[in-house]
Amino acid sequence: MTANLLDYDLEGLAAFCERLGEKRFRATQLFRWIHQKGAVEFDEMSDLAKSLREKLKTAAHVQALPVLSQHISADGTIKWLFDVGGGNAIETVFIPEDDRGTLCISSQAGCAVACRFCSTGHQGFSRNLTVAEIVAQLWFAEHFLRKHLKQSERVISNVVMMGMGEPMQNYSALVPSLRVMLDDHAYGLSRRRVTVSTSGVVPMIDRLGSDCPVALAVSLHAPNDVLRDDLVPLNRKYPIAELLEACKRYLTVAPRDFITFEYCMLDGVNDTPAHAAELVKLVHPVAGERAWSKFNLIPFNPFPASGLLRSSQSAVLAFSKILSDAGIVTTVRKTRGDDIDAACGQLAGDVRDRTNIQARISKRRTIIITPENELTPKGREDIVND
Ligand code: SAH
Ligand code: SF4
Repeated sequence: MTANLLDYDLEGLAAFCERLGEKRFRATQLFRWIHQKGAVEFDEMSDLAKSLREKLKTAAHVQALPVLSQHISADGTIKWLFDVGGGNAIETVFIPEDDRGTLCISSQAGCAVACRFCSTGHQGFSRNLTVAEIVAQLWFAEHFLRKHLKQSERVISNVVMMGMGEPMQNYSALVPSLRVMLDDHAYGLSRRRVTVSTSGVVPMIDRLGSDCPVALAVSLHAPNDVLRDDLVPLNRKYPIAELLEACKRYLTVAPRDFITFEYCMLDGVNDTPAHAAELVKLVHPVAGERAWSKFNLIPFNPFPASGLLRSSQSAVLAFSKILSDAGIVTTVRKTRGDDIDAACGQLAGDVRDRTNIQARISKRRTIIITPENELTPKGREDIVND
């Protein structure tokens, strides 16, 4: 088995070069070819000595993930489903906005945390993704988008680890993957524009703070332990008070001066004015403290097995007003790519049953990418009109 070079951060690639008997600095050239230029063939890498290229051909490869499907929404959101083998698939979503391009990346196939409102959680846990599988999502999306938007500049400006899985439960692959995203010889993203979202794995929040501080989002979803124990079972291990303490410790090293709290709005479950008032008490700065939290209210994406419903718009607005009136910056997440189910484990939830997924895919007129039918204007039109 040769090594997949997407599996390495720059340090790892330098060690790999040393093992080949090459100077460590060769790794920088190689890293740039792979991540900045999207090269997969060593013969393309014209400034590498021929002897090194020959060695690489026998010892290494650059292997992306097979694309199972690609959906493009009328609003420009793109969702890819990648095959990670063994009947598992993961999803990656690109969300274009006027001033940025955000890629939402998966960290695991399935998830062990089993939150009640999450279809990934309902699937159960299959396995951790490797560094190569995490990085391949960014590698593929960036170079695909550059090619199809005919842009030579960087397209993806922000990465959020908000796809499938709990990134903090795949910590050993998370950190090298973040380093690739941040490295100036690869994607050069700013720490403020790379966000790890977690359901609250307290010890790992501290470790991330010392190993690789990036922006942090915490999925709170409830203002008290009784409710959070039920919605986010991990709360039984790391209750809210401990989680908030970890958030405050993280702020001392974070690239931003606030933590974003995500709060999925569930009709009649966590969305009443009383819940909002309880939340205010929880995160309100104590005397002399600056505001340190922002809230992102997420409209729930319903799926039948959850038995839960999306909060009404009026409930969301009333909730948001209570937080804002208390001086807490609050945004309501726009739903993007609704027409392609681009939110939160909606499609990959069915992937274990491949037959089922294939039937659904064809019904939705998804195109399956093969070298012959790479996205054509006609294909795009079909999907947009779906
Ligand atoms: N495991 C991490 C990151 C992946 S989930 C975490 O929980 O933070 C990313 C975000 O999507 C989380 O805030 C999660 O609560 C939210 N989410 C999951 N299922 C959802 C659904 N059905 N509707 C709306 N948001 C959902
Ligand atoms: Fe896992 Fe996050 Fe889904 Fe909870 S919300 S089950 S932690 S992916």
